[in-house]
Amino acid sequence: MKIKNAILPGTDPRSRWDVHFESNTITRIDPAAATNYDSDPSPLLLPPLCHPHIHLDKAYLLTCNSQHLPSTHAGEDQSKHPDYSDLTPQDGSFAEALKFTSLAKQRYTAEDLYLRGAQLLATSLQQGVSSCRAFVEVDHVTGQLCLQAAIRLKECFHGKMKVQICAFAQEPIFSTEHGEENRKVLQHALDECGDHIEVLGTTPYVEKSMEASRRNIEWAIETALMYSLHLDFHLDYNLDESQRPLAPDVLRLLQGKKWNERADPRKTIVLGHCSRLTLLGDMEMAVFALAIRNSGLPIHFVGLPTSDLFMMGRPPQSPLPANSKSANRLRGTLQVLDMIKERQLNCCLSVNNVGNAFTPWGTGDPLALASLGVGIYQAGTDEDANLLFECVSSRARRAIGLGTSSALHAGDSDAMQLDDDDTTELKEGRKGELLLIKNKEFVICPGHLGIKVPARQRISVRDVVWDPPQDDLRQILRSG
Ligand SMILES: [Zn+2]
Repeated sequence: MKIKNAILPGTDPRSRWDVHFESNTITRIDPAAATNYDSDPSPLLLPPLCHPHIHLDKAYLLTCNSQHLPSTHAGEDQSKHPDYSDLTPQDGSFAEALKFTSLAKQRYTAEDLYLRGAQLLATSLQQGVSSCRAFVEVDHVTGQLCLQAAIRLKECFHGKMKVQICAFAQEPIFSTEHGEENRKVLQHALDECGDHIEVLGTTPYVEKSMEASRRNIEWAIETALMYSLHLDFHLDYNLDESQRPLAPDVLRLLQGKKWNERADPRKTIVLGHCSRLTLLGDMEMAVFALAIRNSGLPIHFVGLPTSDLFMMGRPPQSPLPANSKSANRLRGTLQVLDMIKERQLNCCLSVNNVGNAFTPWGTGDPLALASLGVGIYQAGTDEDANLLFECVSSRARRAIGLGTSSALHAGDSDAMQLDDDDTTELKEGRKGELLLIKNKEFVICPGHLGIKVPARQRISVRDVVWDPPQDDLRQILRSG
């Protein structure tokens, strides 16, 4: 198999290359013959996109439109597809999102979880995503319902999308009347479905005391080590200076439990949200970043700005008090690009949620997220564009343990995991799928308008981050 006249990241955008593949590997890259340049529009060949953090079970709660199922579902019992329309955010607060999502999951059915999850994965594939870390809640309300739906979806998308299942405790596991039961349900799921679960995720901030939060973190670290899992925390999701951030505790506890010595080196630790860290002074952040780097721990941060912008930095009450400084709000999302460039930390970006009370906007498209990053991080250089693309592709994959460290995963039958050089640069010997962005000769407006103009050719990641998803323009490429 050969892609002719391709434009490759990291090369002169005026150059064109013939890329040869065999058995899912780039075997040769040759300069294209100059005479061929003008024959067809040249495609852009890039690393594939990744959702390093996405909630599979609560996608599309606000837009499930259960009462309007298509005719293919006609014979189906409507009660299998619950209505969530009464759970649309009213005040948009964090407490409301937690409460509405908690109410929603009492209505989940296997059919409903499958339908909404399948929509999310299929749409992601159309958008150029080939791997994801899929969070599913496991607790006293859901039991294993969400987990079983995820396992079914993982099998359904096998070979097309690498679905890395995260058994996730959104609820307290060391406080409240259900804490202990939630923990037991989670433990039971790990024992029963361990073959399908690759990640353990918890939410220390939902616990009712600092002590319970610390126990949550400690238990999660110990359990991840015991079951040889990746570890993923929803952490420090506030902008409250009176609350001490827990991220330094996570670092200290990981060191105390000797993660580097005890863990499989392919396993990573991901810290999501962490908006509280944006309140740290420069010196505090520099010291913390240095401690992370010195620890040698495989810690990655994932910025989740679409949720953070909606949730964080709200005025304290509504209607606003006379002295409110509501126009002077913190936006409260990790400065992902600065953390990479200035602090040399591992960071990436993800969409977190699609169509629910935590994130009632957006399509889940990672490239749209990267585009949003240009504004959020005020990042307009070519270097920034490349970095933002990496945040939703190669850096995202590394955060969830795909790429270099997983290359030697002996006996792993899942070919989707076999990328041995997961950088943005495409080199001979690179394994795994790629994203092909096709260029077109013309832009054709809807037929009745009768307008057809020459298409501007896309030659770098800066050109593709603004594209709306169009099936015929993006394609995940595999060979062999
Ligand atoms: Zn999340």
